[in-house]
Amino acid sequence: MNIKPLRILELTFAGLTAELKQRYGKGKYHAAAVYREVYRNGNSDFSGAYEFSKSKKFLSELEKDLVFDPGPVVRTKKEGDLVKFITRLEDGLEIESVIIPMATHKTICVSTQIGCRMGCSFCETAQLGFRRSLTVAEIVGQVYSAKFVFDLEVRNIVFMGMGEPLDNFENLIQAILVMQDPRGLDIALSHMTVSTVGKVEGIRRLAALNWPRLNLAISLNAPNNRIRSKIMPANLTDSMDRIKSALLKYPLKKKGTFFIEYVLIKDVNDSHKHAHELAQFLKPLPTKLNLIPYNPRSNSPFKPPSDEDLDRFRGWLVDEKLFVRRRSAKGRDILAGCGQLGNRQVLRLPDKENRMK
Ligand code: SF4
Repeated sequence: MNIKPLRILELTFAGLTAELKQRYGKGKYHAAAVYREVYRNGNSDFSGAYEFSKSKKFLSELEKDLVFDPGPVVRTKKEGDLVKFITRLEDGLEIESVIIPMATHKTICVSTQIGCRMGCSFCETAQLGFRRSLTVAEIVGQVYSAKFVFDLEVRNIVFMGMGEPLDNFENLIQAILVMQDPRGLDIALSHMTVSTVGKVEGIRRLAALNWPRLNLAISLNAPNNRIRSKIMPANLTDSMDRIKSALLKYPLKKKGTFFIEYVLIKDVNDSHKHAHELAQFLKPLPTKLNLIPYNPRSNSPFKPPSDEDLDRFRGWLVDEKLFVRRRSAKGRDILAGCGQLGNRQVLRLPDKENRMK
């Protein structure tokens, strides 16, 4: 007797087919029906699918074993077209995801952990400490909810929500495989971006997969090791030089680039000298730099830059011949901006400071 639940949100089509074969002696025909109903039609009750009309016994066994658990969306918060939604998990903890409007589509910012152990001092999530990594189903469930609860055509995913994706490597990779399955959510690897603090071991493991179409973003945020180690303790283990040498060996696609995230913090990393140092550091790497205004977390010791600060810093980088995009402060008012996910309510703590309410 099989007691291990069959978690549909953790399985590729091939994986589901193999499970049906091993557990019930069934195969692709029924796997296709389940996959279609769940991932294409948003329907976890597949008992009405014609493929099961003559397999009632099998259907009832499958219904007993199959677990479909994206978790309920318990709260949402909107700022213009941007939506932050909170999903409650089986153990009562909650995760945050963000739907970000872009010019032609929506991007879903997905969490991979509850809290984070990287400890970046400018980041809201870091204030929670680390609770646990998300399961594959909990990662995929966020995208599933964006598609079926919010009725979105999901094309782009960024793993930039709560947590360090490469600190949850196996589950991240399986979630990517599930989400790119052409029979299911069918999201192209080239439309997914993994954003990391620069965990070198994880970058190497990712490189070994040889997925040049998957985008890689490095959350750099500093022009040198001295500043970076102060605001990002992970730099003490994986210094900028170690990150650079891992990137130089990374299998990028032809004409591919790395995305560099640079959160501009007033009086911390925003001088002319910093712009020059940053450009020198990035010179050997093909990059596109996203310049992001710091969104103050609750009780933040840091200040956000003004529009003029941003324009000036961007101008210096452009003079250094870097490709720079200036990102807006979208989501600042609902704490859905970069480095701001994860309030106390997520851990079900007393929420004196909780600004979601
Ligand atoms: S910025 Fe990212 S890596 Fe750093 S603490 Fe926050 S969630 Fe973790």
